[in-house]
Amino acid sequence: MKIIVVGSSHGGFETVQESLLDYPDATIQWYEQGDFLSFLSCGMQLYLEGTVKNVDDVSYATPEGMRAKGVDVHLQEAITAIDADQHTVQVKDLKHNTTREERYDKLVLSVGAVPFELPVSGRDLANVYAMRGRDWAIKLKAKTVDPTVKNVVVIGSGYIGIEAAEVFAKAGKNVTVVDVLPRLLSLYLDQEFTDELTTEMQAHNIYPAVGQGVKKYVGVDGKVTKVVTDQAEYDADLVIEAVGIRPNTDWLKDTLQLDRSGRIEINEFLQTSQPDIFAVGDATVVKYAPTGKAMPIALATNARRQGRYAAKNLVTANQPVPAVSGSSALSVFDYHFASTGIKEGTADKMGVKTQSVLVSETYRPHFVPADENPEVKFKLTFNPETGRILGAQIMSKADVTANINAISLAIQGKMTVDDLAYADFFFQPGFDRPWNIMNVAAQKAQRLMH
Ligand code: FAD
Repeated sequence: MKIIVVGSSHGGFETVQESLLDYPDATIQWYEQGDFLSFLSCGMQLYLEGTVKNVDDVSYATPEGMRAKGVDVHLQEAITAIDADQHTVQVKDLKHNTTREERYDKLVLSVGAVPFELPVSGRDLANVYAMRGRDWAIKLKAKTVDPTVKNVVVIGSGYIGIEAAEVFAKAGKNVTVVDVLPRLLSLYLDQEFTDELTTEMQAHNIYPAVGQGVKKYVGVDGKVTKVVTDQAEYDADLVIEAVGIRPNTDWLKDTLQLDRSGRIEINEFLQTSQPDIFAVGDATVVKYAPTGKAMPIALATNARRQGRYAAKNLVTANQPVPAVSGSSALSVFDYHFASTGIKEGTADKMGVKTQSVLVSETYRPHFVPADENPEVKFKLTFNPETGRILGAQIMSKADVTANINAISLAIQGKMTVDDLAYADFFFQPGFDRPWNIMNVAAQKAQRLMH
């Protein structure tokens, strides 16, 4: 069997790894159009802040290492067309500007996405950047130490925008974050959390310019100098757009069924409209556990899970990929937060009825000194009629983010507040209180319901 995997980021890497285990006799060809194998944007902040010194370390695989395992690795070679009937792909060698055909038995696409570019005038000015992939990582790193860059404007306050803002604030720049939504990080956290985080960001020289849309970028001598919104103007020596992604699928629209946003339609076995072509990662959608509906959730975790399942299903498509809750976590200066599933702020948009309880208490018992006992804020969201757990958010200066993994599991397992209220969680004063905060929140929810 010959397996062709396209794209070397999370989804592609995982497909190759699993295929090596499941099909030791298969020929595996792995294609990446870039000149670097498996750059992981998730590690970009660690590189930009100097924790990781070498940009090339932000990767899980090297061409040499993968070739030693028997994978036929092709860098700077793009797949530009597919003939599904003939089971062939067209390969463009970008180094030599030549094309050739390759045959496949099974094809897995993990072609991912590119940053969405705002369609505003001035978009082509110099110093309008994005934050994704190795090339942007190198360019952004140079700007962190460029003394001519004093004012940085980040567009978009999702986790990528906030990572960018923190990097440049720590580098001593004045940072403005513009978002059309009324709060920073509003798709990840409800207001009780974002108010506190916004105060923390303001204390670190990040100015929130929320509830306003970008109208244009203005420049002098071809370089950006200002961002103009529908409410104000902001000085900018560097603009970083982090306003979402566009799937890398234009070239596929005549071959595969795509949804309205251009994402590749897949079934629960990761098969596309052509059964021998599988697709995974940011170019696809996932099944969202709280609602059971398909959603685009661009996370490495999802790409990896799908990559595994695509490989498992290549020969016999009988293992459905589990639904996900969309769990994510981030540190913002001294705070650590995580969230999963539905928030009050997103429930209406999903047409879901919710009720929530908020618990705020110290991380450890009261007798522990205050400097080692920060507050923890935890919000549990559930269906008010059935008690089914639909989501949760947590934030503290202590790292209690792992609780959210337990809630993710509860969502996946369709558990209720009754299940969670007296669930067996450990207690040790070094880590928590006799009742874990998840028990406390579920007990509070029970009192509301019964
Ligand atoms: P991509 O990462 O988009 O990669 C696709 C690859 O395919 C690219 O290398 C591209 O060059 C190649 N390619 C595309 N088309 C072709 C073609 N026709 N021929 C050959 N090669 C092709 N997720 C988390 O879970 N946790 C995090 O902490 C996190 N942090 C992030 C931080 C940043 C700054 C960014 C940008 C993303 C972060 N993510 C995080 C999201 C995560 O990086 C993505 O969900 C993940 O990379 C998606 O993987 P993918 O395989 O779908 O595609």
